[in-house]
Amino acid sequence: MTEWYPQLDRNLCTGCGDCIAACPTGSLAQVDGKATLAFPDLCTYCTACETICPVGAIELPYLICKIEEAHE
Ligand code: SF4
Ligand code: SF4
Repeated sequence: MTEWYPQLDRNLCTGCGDCIAACPTGSLAQVDGKATLAFPDLCTYCTACETICPVGAIELPYLICKIEEAHE
């Protein structure tokens, strides 16, 4: 099974800490001045960190599944 996690771009991250403060599960932490997904098992994929990041350094990848309707 594929595990899906928020993707943090360390090059874009300014280390402002907004995402760490916003994360309801404490999944994120500051490491070497940048936000890091320190506890991925806690992440509920709520998207709060992606929404709050002012520089767009966090992306939550999605897999789009198209379901064909059955025609009888
Ligand atoms: S998606 Fe939600 S739970 Fe996961 S790291 Fe971001 S704010 Fe925390
Ligand atoms: S909100 Fe964005 S810029 Fe701020 S610490 Fe988190 S990832 Fe870095």
